[in-house]
Order: sequence, then C-alpha cells, then structure tokens
Amino acid sequence: MTDALFRNFIDGRFDEPSVTFDSIDPSTGALWARMPAASEADVDRAVEAAHRALRSGPWAAMTATARSKLLVKLGDLVGANAGRLAELETRDTGKIIRETRAQIAYVGDYYRYYGGLADKHEGAHVPIDKADLDVTIRHEPIGVVAAVVPWNSQLFLSAVKLGPALAAGCTVVVKASEDGPAPLLAFAELVQQAGFPEGTVNILTGFGQDCGRRLTSHPLVSRVAFTGGPSTARAIVRNTAENLAYTTLELGGKSPVVVFADADLDSAANAVVAGIFAATGQSCVAGSRLLVEGSVKDEFLARLKRKAEAIRIGDPQDPATEMGPLATQRQRDWIEKIVAESLAKGGKMITGGTRPAIGTGFYYAPTIIDAGDNDLPCVREELFGPVLSVLAFDTEAQALALANDTPFGLASGVFTSSLGKAHRMARDIHAGVVWVNTYRAVSPLVPFGGYGHSGLGREGGLDAIRDYTRSKSVWIKTSDEPIPDPFVMR
Ligand code: NAD
Repeated sequence: MTDALFRNFIDGRFDEPSVTFDSIDPSTGALWARMPAASEADVDRAVEAAHRALRSGPWAAMTATARSKLLVKLGDLVGANAGRLAELETRDTGKIIRETRAQIAYVGDYYRYYGGLADKHEGAHVPIDKADLDVTIRHEPIGVVAAVVPWNSQLFLSAVKLGPALAAGCTVVVKASEDGPAPLLAFAELVQQAGFPEGTVNILTGFGQDCGRRLTSHPLVSRVAFTGGPSTARAIVRNTAENLAYTTLELGGKSPVVVFADADLDSAANAVVAGIFAATGQSCVAGSRLLVEGSVKDEFLARLKRKAEAIRIGDPQDPATEMGPLATQRQRDWIEKIVAESLAKGGKMITGGTRPAIGTGFYYAPTIIDAGDNDLPCVREELFGPVLSVLAFDTEAQALALANDTPFGLASGVFTSSLGKAHRMARDIHAGVVWVNTYRAVSPLVPFGGYGHSGLGREGGLDAIRDYTRSKSVWIKTSDEPIPDPFVMR
C-alpha cells in the first residue's frame, strides 16, 4: 500500500480529513500513509457526540447484557481481523509481525473478558444501622471517557480502556498517537461493524498540543485514561485541572531484572532477552536494568552477549525476524545520545551500540552496557529501546536496594531457585508487577499499573470496571412515622 489515507471516526462516520500528516514506515524511513490531524473543533464534535450518546438514544437505554453482547462481538471481530490489523501495526510502527499477530489476536480476549463482566458488575444493598432506612448503592457510568494512548501497542492499550469503559456504560473518545495510528483507525471499522450506536466510540488522531490537550481538558469529559510518558502525564494532569476529570496514568519504567546465582541461568538469560530486546525494547515493561549476582556475572553476560548477537534483525513483516527497527528517527537519536553519554561517564560496551547495515530504516543493534555505576544516564533514564544496563550485587539486600533505587516502579523480574528469596523479593520490590522466573506475561484477568513515576491507578482485572463508574447511594425511608428532630443529623 502506498500513500494510503486514513480517517477519523466521529459520531459513527469516517470524516474526510481537511488536514493530514505523513506517516513513515520505520523499516524504510519512507512515507507510506497520510493520517488525519484532528483539530480542536473535531475533538469538540467527538466529545459532544459521545456526550449525546451517553445521555440519550440507544446506548443510554441499553441493558448491561446488550452491552456485553456488543463487546463480545467486537472481540470476535478483532480476532477475525487480527492478521490485517497486525500488518498495519507492523507497517506503521515497525513492531515485528510475529508479535503484532499474536498480541492483536489476544486483544480480542480483552473485549470478551469485559463483555463477560458487563452484566456482573452489581450494586449493593447495605444492611444499614438505621431501622427505618433502606439503602442501595448503584454503580453508574462515570461519563464521557477520553482515552489517550502512546504509539506502541495501540490496539492493546486502547482495549484495556475501551473494554471496561464500555462495559460500565460509558462512551469514549480515543486519541490514537500521531506515531503509528493506522491499526487503531482501522479498528474503528470493526466498532462500526459490531453495531455500537453512533457516538458511543469515537477514534481520532492528531497531535498532543492541540487535539490531546483539548480532549483531556474538555468540559464534557469526566474521565481521562492515559498511557504514555511521565512528562506528558504532567501535562495531562495540568489539562485535567480544568475539567477535574478522574484520571488514571500508565507511564514508563526502568524495570529491574534480578538474577541470583542459584537461578536457572539459561532460562533467566532468555527472559532477559525477552524483557529488553522483544519489541526492540520499546515496551513500558522493558527489563532495562539487569542486576546480576557478582559470582555469576561474567558467565551470565557471556551467555547474554551470545544470545543478543544471534538475534535476527530485519524486515518486521518477515515472520522470521526477531527484532525490527525503532519506531521513529527521534527515538533512535535519543537512544544514541544517552548511550554516548553513558560511555563517556565510564559505561563499558559489551555488545551493540551501532546501527546495523539494514536499508534505510531506524535500526539499532541489541545493546548491553556494563554500567558499573547506578547513576549513569543509561541506568536512570527510560530509553524505550534495546539497551540493557548491567549492575552487579553481592547480597540480597544490595539487590533489593538497587532494584528500588529508581523513581519508577512498573515491572520487575526475579530469577532464583530459592522459594524464600522469591517471596521476600516479591514482597519488597516497589513495582506494580513482579514476575518470578518468567518475564513479560500479561492477561486481561490481572490488574496492571505502576508505583511512583510509573503511574496512578490500575488497568485490567475485575476492578477496572469500577474505575469507570461512580457510585450513587439511594436512601429510602420505609417507616410512615414523621421525621424526628429536624435539627439532628440522622
Ligand atoms: P507520549 O507521552 O509522548 O505520548 C502519549 C500520547 O499523549 C500521544 O497520543 C500524544 O499525542 C499524547 N499527548 C502528548 N502531549 C499531550 C498533551 N499535552 N495533552 C494530551 N495528550 C498529549 O508517549 P510515547 O512516546 O508515544 O510512548 C512512549 C511512552 O509510553 C513511554 O514512556 C512508555 O513507557 C509509555 N508506555 C506506558 C505503558 C504502560 O502501560 N504503563 C504502556 C506503553 C507505553
């Protein structure tokens, strides 16, 4: 496909864009599609449509069971179209096809999971301590949701917002990232096919400063669900100072992977590779800090180096490829800058740090740096790329102190054959996810989110629906007696 044109989906229709911007194929650096740049007026139309759908019409009147059926249908459509959507995501972001196919097929399960929950999210009858009052708690949809996602895994990251929001009865405006929005804009066709009423789901793309800012500060938006970087999160929080929308933030990480000498080292090495080189390291849960016990450091690094150098880098559309390009030129520039600064400050390059000679795309080799010093930029900064920083430790207490010495706290990995050590580390690591003897596993059934600068709130699991509702307590006097003393609170 050359120079394809994508459209925003607003109020049940695909708009002819008045302003477009170029989308670059990261594997070649060439223009391949034009994307619609939503203006502030487009955002207003989308939010107003979502607000109308929330207040009146078929969606507002729909039972939870009917919403459930729509979500399950959407999940099935995503599954059936996973191949086509995966090709678009790979084309627009450079993420390898073997991962986009598997991940998008699994995205269908997220919609089915929340479809299943839609009519099981019950209110309550409270056994109140006042005999003449009957109290029930209702869970009502919180309102219009603004869902803002980053460029990586846009179908996945929007599903964890759309699924619970729609299950709860909310309506949604999704802002796809300006980088790699093709799969999410194409997904809008499935929303239409599934039969969601007009205005229930609106999907648009554009830039943060106008479209994103207007969406997250819009007076008719009651809930913002954001995934992206910490500095954008601060801008989002400033935006929501205007509408006071309830906001959740899923941000970046600098996740530690702790390898003890008693671990199965080959399995641990595979997990470290999965953590930092899968998705070319462009994953919020990237295990970018390896903390390895000093007694096995040399042996472990030798294994890792062999595995890193054997990774097949190349065309992301080729199913044999294991690592594709970075998504943008900007991203590669940033990684090269931080790596250079880290080497200048004493970091030792174990492998990588180069641009592989593969065409004109934004490729960067799997890179391992023996950091030595916990203050090196490559240890502190989220690089969002295939760069592993290594530090050694001698005791469990040192491992824990290093693991927690970061403002982030998204994910972590612990590799050991000691049950006690695994439990102690899992208890004491400051992170929203601890994987023990495994890495990079997700499920719609499990809550996900970070500590500290990695975020606020959780996505996934049963509780996610509650985050898209607000409770209302209804108090009914059941006695026929007159109200007693009006000057005393009951
Ligand atoms: P980003 O923060 O630059 O952009 C995210 C989204 O915010 C984009 O859609 C962008 O247009 C929008 N935006 C930018 N400025 C805005 C503003 N002022 N108001 C409203 N919206 C605005 O992130 P990115 O570079 O696209 O993605 C990488 C980051 O996302 C990394 O930090 C990564 O760790 C993080 N991430 C986190 C998770 C998670 O679940 N915790 C998952 C994936 C990615």
